[in-house]
Amino acid sequence: MAVPIRADLAGIPDYIIPGQPPGAILLNSNEGPLAPPPSLIEAITRAAAESHRYPTWFSDELVSRLADRLGVPEQWITVGCGSVSLCQQLIQAYCAPGDEIVCAWRSFEAYPVFARVAGVTARTVPLDPEHRHDLDAMLAAITPATRVVFVCNPNNPTGTVVRADALRRFLDEVPSDVLVVLDEAYREFLTDPDVPDGIPLALERENVAVLRTFSKAYALAGVRIGYCVAPPPIAAGTAKVGVPFAVSRLAQAAGLAALEHADEVGARCETVIRERERLSAAMREAGHDVPPSQANFLWLPLRERSARFGEHCAESGIMVRVFGKDGVRVTVGLPEENDAFLRAAQSFAHAVS
Ligand SMILES: *Cc1c(COP(=O)(O)O)cnc(C)c1O
Repeated sequence: MAVPIRADLAGIPDYIIPGQPPGAILLNSNEGPLAPPPSLIEAITRAAAESHRYPTWFSDELVSRLADRLGVPEQWITVGCGSVSLCQQLIQAYCAPGDEIVCAWRSFEAYPVFARVAGVTARTVPLDPEHRHDLDAMLAAITPATRVVFVCNPNNPTGTVVRADALRRFLDEVPSDVLVVLDEAYREFLTDPDVPDGIPLALERENVAVLRTFSKAYALAGVRIGYCVAPPPIAAGTAKVGVPFAVSRLAQAAGLAALEHADEVGARCETVIRERERLSAAMREAGHDVPPSQANFLWLPLRERSARFGEHCAESGIMVRVFGKDGVRVTVGLPEENDAFLRAAQSFAHAVS
């Protein structure tokens, strides 16, 4: 007889790994378009020589360097195997089966999945007509069972933002025993000065956690390293449910080296931002609705045409990310990759008209 899996997991779809034809242009996972600089690869290689030893449990050196940089005490920082693992840890530490989380939809797909894995109900609140978080509706969705609220800023997959006044008002209204997680995976790509840095907001409150990652701007998605900044009791709660030694020696070394070479990262982000604006303008000119993006990707709310658009791009050797019948997310790549995407988008317009 087959071993039965927990019945309530049946509804969680298996993760489908998209086929990646060799040589395809990968604009489907919000990765950095360039490999990490040689200095980072050297640091990872040096760490590899010590692979027979376990890493430090709490990524001590990286925590200390992050604390200096961010201006927060070390006890506020938890390092994780990508910030996605910290999302899961926060849900595990703060929600019991039957509790609820609130998040926008569409937003990061991991939030409702992690909720279900923990036996937690995700209340998903539709984005507003401009593809932004509807904070009033999110407030209204909070019930006595709500333990955690996610605000993804900028939002994946739409690239839209929550600005300072709106976020402050929201934080003032959320009950103080509900944890608000500000997911800032794309913070380095912001150009809008009205989008707040979550860390000072966390420092003023007892119920705010901020998630950051080295995967996107620092081009370390394959290494798996991210961190959470939160008041010490929350940092301790997060660490409690972490998998021992989940953050490898290689990941810790890469994070440290990335901080040391942050200026190179900044220069790369500027290129991505420039290309983002060029791509957005070209797509708008071609008649597409493109919400203003503050991240390293664009959102094309193509609705029923989403799947066909995705297939058309794949036929041109370009992988983009299709989200059901809502839209398509296109990661900003290198200039020539973006040109190839624009050509594919243009031929799609001709093919369907
Ligand atoms: C990519 C992403 C993350 C985390 O990525 P990791 O690689 O796990 O650090 C977290 N939140 C959002 C919204 C993302 O898009």
